[in-house]
Amino acid sequence: SGEGGEDKTYKVGIDTTYPPFEFEENGEYTGIDIDIINAIAKNQGFKIEFNPMDFGGIIPALQANQLDIAIAGMSITDERKKVVDFSDPYFDAGLTLVVTSENTDITSLDDLKGKTVAVKSGTTGAEFARANEDKYGYEVAQFEDSPSMFQEVSNGNADVLLEDYPVIAYAIAQSGLDLKTVGERLTGDQYGIAVLKGQNAEVLEKINTGLQELRDSGEYDKIINKYIGE
Ligand code: GLN
Repeated sequence: SGEGGEDKTYKVGIDTTYPPFEFEENGEYTGIDIDIINAIAKNQGFKIEFNPMDFGGIIPALQANQLDIAIAGMSITDERKKVVDFSDPYFDAGLTLVVTSENTDITSLDDLKGKTVAVKSGTTGAEFARANEDKYGYEVAQFEDSPSMFQEVSNGNADVLLEDYPVIAYAIAQSGLDLKTVGERLTGDQYGIAVLKGQNAEVLEKINTGLQELRDSGEYDKIINKYIGE
């Protein structure tokens, strides 16, 4: 902020395993979210210390002041806006149903009676599953990270899972998971970068300014194309 001193270092919470947004490769964090926040930091003159954790721990860590910023494929929701402030949206996503490739009896929520639905703690998927549990008559099984949730459906312990469509599309394409998406997209939302509510106007301003500059310079598109193309 113009004092000419050391750049400020912000603690940034990230989901441990959430490709193509955040993951580890050769001992380095990489992915769309990582590149975006690194580019914003460079543009706005701050430093980053990454704090990888399960998604469900991220908002609590912001609230406990253990993190300054969170970027974790986090959907902007009214519920979360009660405790965090979000940046301008940077990516469109939403939930879809996922089953094994050979599954032919589940094509929509109406087919879930008596089934087990796997979700990840603290996510919009978990929230959606709980909110519709009685209506569709399924059981919810909760996991702490996406790979465990995918595994549960792959190995037949759960019938279906809920995940953001860009994430599951990438997982299927990249790792050859024996899974497929079915039915209509269930929700549409947008990812935002979060800071603790009401106390971080200055950080949020830097994030929004940096994000806009990445969009204007074409760097945002380059980052997206690097991981998922069009
Ligand atoms: N977009 C979803 C959410 O905000 C999932 C995020 C995640 O699993 N990292 O809850």
